[in-house]
Amino acid sequence: MHDIDRVVSEIDRATDEIVQFTRDLVRIPTVNPPGDEYTACAEFLGGRLKRGGFDIEYIAADGRPEHTRQHPRVNVVGTRRGTGSGPVVHLNGHIDVVPPGDGWSLDPFGGVVRDGRIFGRGVCDMKAGIAAAVFAAEAIARAGVSLPGTIEISGTVDEESGGFAGVAHLARVGRIAKSRTDYVIIPEPLDVDRICIGHRGVYWFELTTRGRIAHGSMPFLGVSAISGMARVLDAIRRDLEPALATRVTSMPVVPDAARHATINVNAIEGGQPIDGIQTPCVADRCRAVFDRRFLIEEGFASAKNEITALINRALSAMPGVEHDVRDLMVVEPVRTPDGSPLVDALDGAIARVLGKRATLIASPGTYDHKHVTRIAGIEDCVAYGPGELELAHQPDESCGISDLVNATKVIALATLDLMGM
Ligand SMILES: [Zn+2]
Repeated sequence: MHDIDRVVSEIDRATDEIVQFTRDLVRIPTVNPPGDEYTACAEFLGGRLKRGGFDIEYIAADGRPEHTRQHPRVNVVGTRRGTGSGPVVHLNGHIDVVPPGDGWSLDPFGGVVRDGRIFGRGVCDMKAGIAAAVFAAEAIARAGVSLPGTIEISGTVDEESGGFAGVAHLARVGRIAKSRTDYVIIPEPLDVDRICIGHRGVYWFELTTRGRIAHGSMPFLGVSAISGMARVLDAIRRDLEPALATRVTSMPVVPDAARHATINVNAIEGGQPIDGIQTPCVADRCRAVFDRRFLIEEGFASAKNEITALINRALSAMPGVEHDVRDLMVVEPVRTPDGSPLVDALDGAIARVLGKRATLIASPGTYDHKHVTRIAGIEDCVAYGPGELELAHQPDESCGISDLVNATKVIALATLDLMGM
């Protein structure tokens, strides 16, 4: 039997184990925030990898403020070295999940299996993906295929809150780096026949407007910071949003509407706290947080200049209102280069397993790809994994078992291909 056929049949044979391992991961409630049970989950994954012949390292995010005694940020990296000088294929999954929220019809951390699907918080985003990575490597070993290159599998923290103590930390300390890592696959849930080649840029900023306090019965004696903010919001709605809607990226962002540049007001507060005791005052202070998604074609500098100019213009009509803008987070867009061998390998594996060509997409939000490319300098990175994007972060989140098994096969076959087998 050919290597590929042996690996595929090992994965079919391991279906119950793959499902069980996914359920076991779901039952560790690694909720972020605050970052519960990370050590337990990292050790559970590390133990499984160790039994599969991997050398294990636990890398805590020393020096990061969110790495605390109460909520330690512990990442795990497993390495199974090959027999030769072949490439290093790194499979990375985040172990954290978002809080369950309301609306569940079953236990979010029960790992219930029903109607060919596994249910639970984080099952599709992305514990099924971690299981797919583990069993792709496991099946290659069980099939008796010895690889010339190295497989690495990491379980990392905090992707849902930016990934700074997770993949960004591993990249900063050089554990994931261009000099030692050739290809990175992140098995995020983007549908089993789609390969995700990147995302738009993110610019989060906080705008504060300041006016002058006065008695609320005589507002004409003060300057309202809220009125200043309203001017800015009005200018955004009237001038900026229509302009952003005309800009379209060449990246295949899904859904289609996310192919445009966008802006969202995440939060706003002004004047005295609404739940406190009120006194009659003109609001002398207002703050809002904005989320501007910019296109690779726009770039950060022009997105920032545009919003700064708009704010200045809007507030120039309001003497007495001062303002400042504070950058909260900037994420540059990333895009896997055309012709990446990683995309070709996954495309070929998808054709073989699913009998159809892969669709290339870009994610509407960001994921750890940004750190792999921007900090570690690795361009050959994609997201590919089991589970449907629309179910992530929803109540009754679930992943189809057949998708999970197929994605495991695709990752295994793509790994063989990248190793030249
Ligand atoms: Zn995710």
